[in-house]
Amino acid sequence: MEVAHPVEANGSAASSTDGIENLVIVGSGPAGYTAAIYAARANLNPIVITGFQLGGIAGGQLMTTTHVENFPGFPDGILGPDLMDRLQAQAVRWGTRLIEADAEAIDLSQRPFKVSVEGRTLRTHALILATGASANRLHLVGEDRLWSRGISACAICDGATPQFRNEELAVIGGGDSACEEAVYLTKYGSHVHLIVRSGALRASKAMADRVLANPSITVHWHCQAVEALGSDWLDGLKLEATDGSEQGSVLAVRGLFYAIGHTPNTQLVQGQLPLDGRGYLQTEPGRPETAVAGVFAAGDVADAEWRQGVTAAGSGCQAALAAERWLTHNQLAVTVSRAPVDPEPAPSQPETATSDAETFAADARWQKGSYALRKLYHDSDRPLLVIYTSPTCGPCHVLKPQLKRVLDELDGRALGIEIDIEAEQEIAQQAGVTGTPTLQLFKDKVLVQQWRGVRQRREIKAAIETCLNPAVPA
Ligand code: NDP
Repeated sequence: MEVAHPVEANGSAASSTDGIENLVIVGSGPAGYTAAIYAARANLNPIVITGFQLGGIAGGQLMTTTHVENFPGFPDGILGPDLMDRLQAQAVRWGTRLIEADAEAIDLSQRPFKVSVEGRTLRTHALILATGASANRLHLVGEDRLWSRGISACAICDGATPQFRNEELAVIGGGDSACEEAVYLTKYGSHVHLIVRSGALRASKAMADRVLANPSITVHWHCQAVEALGSDWLDGLKLEATDGSEQGSVLAVRGLFYAIGHTPNTQLVQGQLPLDGRGYLQTEPGRPETAVAGVFAAGDVADAEWRQGVTAAGSGCQAALAAERWLTHNQLAVTVSRAPVDPEPAPSQPETATSDAETFAADARWQKGSYALRKLYHDSDRPLLVIYTSPTCGPCHVLKPQLKRVLDELDGRALGIEIDIEAEQEIAQQAGVTGTPTLQLFKDKVLVQQWRGVRQRREIKAAIETCLNPAVPA
C-alpha cells in the first residue's frame, strides 16, 4: 500500500505503482466529479482530467446555467457554477488529483490505456469517459461576421454585456436552456423573442409555464432564423415560417442567443468505441460498461435521453463502482491509504472585496473594481491583466483561478484586476467589452493584447512575459 499522494490540484499527476494509474476520469461535469468522489473514497487515487477549452468548459454545462432548482439537496436552488465548485471541492477533499487541461488523445488499442495530456502520456488500467456534450450553433448566413458582436451561445455568460441593455433580444430553441435563457435575459433586454421551430416547448412544465406567463417574452411558434443582419453589430434576424404558413419577416434584435441543444463529445474515442445513431457512446443497456473492458462512460456523452445534472451524477457513481469492481476482479487495483483517515474539511473560497481608497493596495496581486484599475493604470509600471466578468459567468469562474496562478508564478511582477460588468457597466462600455470573460493586458497605459473567452494559461503568461522583457519573443 502507498501513502496517499498529496492533492495536486492544477499540478502534475503522481502515478501509482509502476507508473500506471488505477483510474483516469476524463471530464469534470457532475458525472466526472461524482465518479471521482466514489473512486477516491474507494482509495483508488483517481485522476480527473478536467478539460479546459475543448468540448465546452471545465465543469460542463452547469457552468453556463444560472439557478439549478432540481438538484436534490438544495431547497432554494443553487447557481450552476457554485454547484460545480462544491462537487470539485468534495472530490479533491477525498484525494482526487486534478489536471486542469484538455485531454489531447486516448489510445485504447493496448493495455494499459494511454491518455495524452499537457504533452505527456498517462497510462491507466481503467478509464471513465465523462466528456459531456457541447453547445450547438446554427451557422446562419452572417453568423461568422457577427459572432461576439451580438451573437452568442451563452446568455448566462454574455447577457450582462452593456450592448444588450434595454435592447430587443432573441433566443432560439424550445428546451429548458432556451426557456431559462429567455427568462434570464428579461433582466437586461427591453423584450425577449423566443424562436421555436415547432408548435410546442420541449422544456419542463415549470420552465415553460414561466416563459408563457412572462409579458416580456414573445414566443414565435413554427419559426426559424435563416440570416443574421447587421454590419458591425447584429441589428436583425431574417425569419421564415417552418409550417409554410406565411412569408418571411425581419425581427429587429440586437442580441441572438443559441440554445438549440448539444452534441456529445466523443472525438477522443472516434473509431475506438461504438457510437449510437445519434453519436452518443454506446454502453451496455442501463450500465456504464462500453465495448472495451475497463472503459466506462458516464453522463451526457452516453445519455441521449435524460441529460440532467442528477442523472449524470448518478451515472458517474455507477461508472466508479463498476470500475472499482472491474479493477478488483482483475487484480489491478493498487489502493492507497489516506492519512488522516478523515480528511480535513474542504477550504472555503473567500470572494475578493471591491477595492476603494482605504483598501486599495498598490502591490496586491489581485484586486477588484474600477478604483483599483484607475489607480494602477495611471501609477503602476507593471503589466496589468484586467478580466471583465459577470456574476453568473461559468467560464469566468474557470479562468480566474488560472489567472491568479499565472500572477503567482510571476511573483507579483504583473498585477490582476477584476471588473464585474454588471456592477460597473460604464467602464465595461468604455473598454468595448462585448461578452465575458474578456481579458485585456495593459503596459504603460497601452492595450497590448485582448482575449475573449477561456484561454490557456501558457498563452497569457507568455504575453505578460513579453511585456516584462520585450526582447524575449512570446
Ligand atoms: P434540448 O435538446 O432539450 O432542446 C433543444 C431545443 O432546441 C429543442 O427545443 C429543439 O427543438 C431546438 N432545436 C434543435 N435544433 C434546432 C435547430 N436547428 N433550429 C431551431 N431549433 C432547434 O436541449 P437543452 O440544452 O435545452 O437541454 C438539454 C438538457 O439539459 C435537457 O435534458 C434539459 O432538461 C436539461 N436542462 C435543465 C435545466 C434545468 O433544469 N435548470 C436547464 C437547462 C437544461 P425541437 O423541440 O423541435 O427538437
